[in-house]
Amino acid sequence: MSFDLVLFGGTGDLAWRKLMPALFQAFRHGTLPARGRIIGVARDDLSDAQYRALIRSRFDQVELAKRPSPEEFDRFAALLHFLRMDLSRPDDYARLADMLRQRPADTVVMYLATAPSLFTVTCEQLAASGLNTDNTRIVLEKPLGHDLASNRAINQAVRKVLSEKQIFRIDHYLGKPSVQNLFALRFGNALFEPLWRRENISHIQITIAEDLGVESRGAFYDNTGALRDMVQNHALQLLCALGMEPPINAHADAIRDEKLKVLRSLKPWTPHELDQHLIRGQYGAGTIGGQAVHAYRDEPGVGPHSQTETFVALRCEIANWRWAGVPFYIRTGKRLPARDARIVVNFRPAPHAIFRVPNGAVNRLVIHLQPKDGLELHLLAQGQQSRLASINAAPALAPVHLDLDFDKRFGSERVGAYERLLLDVIDGRLNLFVRADEQEEAWRWVEPILAHSQQDASGPRPYAAGTWGPSAASAMIARDGHCWTEEC
Ligand code: NAP
Repeated sequence: MSFDLVLFGGTGDLAWRKLMPALFQAFRHGTLPARGRIIGVARDDLSDAQYRALIRSRFDQVELAKRPSPEEFDRFAALLHFLRMDLSRPDDYARLADMLRQRPADTVVMYLATAPSLFTVTCEQLAASGLNTDNTRIVLEKPLGHDLASNRAINQAVRKVLSEKQIFRIDHYLGKPSVQNLFALRFGNALFEPLWRRENISHIQITIAEDLGVESRGAFYDNTGALRDMVQNHALQLLCALGMEPPINAHADAIRDEKLKVLRSLKPWTPHELDQHLIRGQYGAGTIGGQAVHAYRDEPGVGPHSQTETFVALRCEIANWRWAGVPFYIRTGKRLPARDARIVVNFRPAPHAIFRVPNGAVNRLVIHLQPKDGLELHLLAQGQQSRLASINAAPALAPVHLDLDFDKRFGSERVGAYERLLLDVIDGRLNLFVRADEQEEAWRWVEPILAHSQQDASGPRPYAAGTWGPSAASAMIARDGHCWTEEC
């Protein structure tokens, strides 16, 4: 099979930091089809050789499990080409059409790694140049819009030109091996499914913590914030994977239909409820790993009076028979103590106590997503019984846990998220991509939360960098009688 991958925004941050290393890994693993071209597109005037040299120089700055030797890089670089185009100029598309027609490929992937403001014009011009054939696939990077209306506008423009089965909307969390294992855990094992419901589960915590700040992307982030950047997409996709019913098969639409039902079942919050269920924060100066770090408002590209949230804690409920009344807490933020994405499923205590158990000790399933990839099952067991224990006293139990480390079990050089997703696009597998109706439903639920945030004159609550966010986030979960796992 042959492919052309046209990388619009081929000189941008996403292209060199994530996409090129992922393509290189696929090449190294022998999974990238051998007959292919990767065509970087941008307004710079670069020859193929200059583009290859640019990507080579950038490779020194990215994380790769093993550095390529010059020969290995050269073999990969032979796939790279460059085309100068201004995507806003209709005339420039004729040159792309010429290039693609000179050597027709079985599959043509158009990867839009540019600002979303260019998505509509690019799709229209691809169609006008006759480049939307049956073997064309288009990849759209998040954020797909800023709100429901802009998301719809992009989706409508793209669907005028391409059918839904040609559109690959990226949420790179779905490409993570740990997230795919979440589906495997739930739907490949019979063990948990009978327990996976309100009768047995008291609440679920979804934490996506980053120790990094906004780095060089302050201007972008200040117009986005944590609700749009993390909650509307990654966190809600995780919530769907946890809350959905078993799909009838593993095909893309069977999975996406079930995720959509979860999004449709999310309980809408009134402004009064949001006062209780939503905590927004913004990091101040602090210390992380012994290093002093700036406040968010002192980051390049961020204004001194910015009201953008860098932290969100949000209580959600899925209003259906399986989950009614079970809180799903989402918590995400920048400049938290560690990079740590995990889900904690808290089971209800045993219905009748014949043992003594330490305060707050319950069965928990901890699903580590990053940087660790694994599962912990927390149980209670009888350890050493004291000889002095009274014969009438209930025996005491102690917490113990089973620990499954997928990196150790399967090797840490597994297929990365972007590598998986790029290969799936080339192969035409849509399972790990988001359908338009899912995205719209997520925006529909998030919009009143965004509106409520905008009307909040007091702005996000300050928290010191290196802490777990504002104390109000602990108070929020404590109102339900729970605590964040690291605080229990
Ligand atoms: P970036 O560094 O600003 O790169 C933008 C790219 O688009 C450059 O190659 C730029 O090259 C090209 N470009 C801009 N205007 C153009 C035009 N009129 N015609 C042709 N090319 C044009 O942005 P980025 O960080 O890579 O982000 C790209 C997209 O991915 C954005 O939508 C972003 O939100 C999303 N995203 C980024 C990341 C990330 O980690 N960076 C993560 C997730 C999603 P020239 O200016 O030379 O033309």
